[in-house]
Amino acid sequence: MPELPEVEVTRRGLLPHVVGCRIVDVTVRHRGLRWPVEPELEARLTGRVIQRIERRGKYLLLECLPAPESDAAPGWLLVHLGMTGTLRVYPDAPAAGPHDHLDLVLAPEAGQDGRPAMVLRFRDPRRFGAIVWTPLAESALAEHPLLKRLGIEPFDPRFDGAWIHRLTRGRSVAIKQALLAGEIVVGVGNIYCSESLFRAGIRPTTPAGRISLARCEKLAEAVRATLAEAIARGGSTLRDFVGSDGSSGYFQLDCFVYDRAGEPCRVCGTPIRQIVQGQRSTFYCPQCQH
Ligand SMILES: [Zn+2]
Repeated sequence: MPELPEVEVTRRGLLPHVVGCRIVDVTVRHRGLRWPVEPELEARLTGRVIQRIERRGKYLLLECLPAPESDAAPGWLLVHLGMTGTLRVYPDAPAAGPHDHLDLVLAPEAGQDGRPAMVLRFRDPRRFGAIVWTPLAESALAEHPLLKRLGIEPFDPRFDGAWIHRLTRGRSVAIKQALLAGEIVVGVGNIYCSESLFRAGIRPTTPAGRISLARCEKLAEAVRATLAEAIARGGSTLRDFVGSDGSSGYFQLDCFVYDRAGEPCRVCGTPIRQIVQGQRSTFYCPQCQH
């Protein structure tokens, strides 16, 4: 399942190919995604120029400016990859398969002569992904219903130990559950949660409200380091976002604990333990994490 690092790597991979291009044709083959794709999407998008691509949590935000001759408002295409979604650029797109739900045909803008038209294709076998158009201005985008409840970004300067400490006081919920909920910080999915807690030396079952400020500082650093490492690792897969090799483009850290039940801890050799918290598997080292 694509987590924040995969989404960020997708964003970086698409940037050089997609930004500045005009959407000259739109094909929606399947509107039954997580939410129905609106029937007017083709008319809304055709003719617009993709101005930039931002990311908020696991949402990619494509700013789409109207054609100069149009009196339409600027707007954003929100894309969520769900559980199995990919966005990929094809200079020479193969025939669409049963899971290729959306194609945007992109033409380079004036001044970018020599670049051929290409296809930006959304593929999603399980269809938990989402394609949502919103005409909101950038200043109002944070208030979009899909975005406004998200925690801050892990690389936001406000995210530090004091932030975690303040948001967890008085809470008896396990720290892993508190992090996974996404209200303290976005992007810490199941894998990265287990890994971050290992790096911070914190047992996942510890009541969130009992973790000291010093340990919260360690945790904030561990979250950032874990995600940054995953994003950096994803950089080596960037080529997968262009072309037709069919690979998912997903990638994974060399994990310390995740999915390593019974195997020796890479630090102390103690067998890694697996437990279930909130119906999700948690992995930790009983020696290194307390
Ligand atoms: Zn250990």
